Amino acid sequence: MLASHTQGTVFNIQKFSLHDGPGIRTIVFLKGCYLSCKWCSNPESQKFKPSVFFEKEKCIGCGKCAASCPQQAISLETRSRIDHQKCVGCGTCTEICPTGALTLSGKTMTVKEVLDEVCKDEVHYRRSNGGLTLSGGEPLAQPDFVEALLKEAKSRGLHTAMETTGIASNEVLNRIIPLLDVVLLDIKTFYRNQHEKYTGLPNDVVLANALTISKLAKQVSVRVPLIPNFNSDEQSIKAIAMFATHMDNVARLHLLPYHNFGQSKYNLLGVDYYCDGFKTPPNKEVDRYKKIVESVGIECVIGG
Ligand code: SF4
Ligand code: SF4
Repeated sequence: MLASHTQGTVFNIQKFSLHDGPGIRTIVFLKGCYLSCKWCSNPESQKFKPSVFFEKEKCIGCGKCAASCPQQAISLETRSRIDHQKCVGCGTCTEICPTGALTLSGKTMTVKEVLDEVCKDEVHYRRSNGGLTLSGGEPLAQPDFVEALLKEAKSRGLHTAMETTGIASNEVLNRIIPLLDVVLLDIKTFYRNQHEKYTGLPNDVVLANALTISKLAKQVSVRVPLIPNFNSDEQSIKAIAMFATHMDNVARLHLLPYHNFGQSKYNLLGVDYYCDGFKTPPNKEVDRYKKIVESVGIECVIGG
């Protein structure tokens, strides 16, 4: 198969982003992640297959969706309507629903299809030194697609960045990290148990891979989501900042204050939102954390 025909599962292509790398960027969001962070603002990204959103207000109760589902994954009696364990993301119900109450998030695209879309904004990338950012989900979880995508992006002259948890085999890191101009690497906490409790996995691989990635990368931006009751305290931030001093090629550390922008998606998936009621850390507190990072000699930026 030609590399440009390599397929992956994409759930969003977001244009004109001013975060997630330098300049004006297009962000390609890929499905599938190894973690399930409780504050995740893209909960539909966590499963590898397409996900179905259900808008209760649009439903007229006709039952066509349940009758059409080949997996018997739909019940008119339940809040979420969809049993996401049984659903295989075939999209049949979303096509048959007469009111648009069901929509599918995620579709198969080729490298060529993605890059033809991304390159429509090439003029803006040139003017702003922007480019393409891969996000997710975890892009490294679709390594063949991402490798082909990045190679083709480079052959088209695009600046490349990737947001990642860093979870992948060494073989995958060696193939993909050198194709990136910037790696935006999430480090959520230095503490193993805390990481496991809030993301579903301990952080041994994340920390070990952070060191490997920083050696392979041209430039790394460490990104720390500031989550109340999880890592939004001086000791946690200092531990991450100290860890970052042992990494190579770190340009800066970003503090990303918690927001609840993804909450409505939990409703559409019929899933409880763990962080309901969490507040964005006040500016004064975030400024204090910034000073802690700077005190170990690392440039610190608040926001993406
Ligand atoms: S996407 Fe397919 S499997 Fe999933 S609920 Fe709809 S019809 Fe059933
Ligand atoms: S097909 Fe659409 S409108 Fe009919 S019951 Fe299913 S979700 Fe509701």
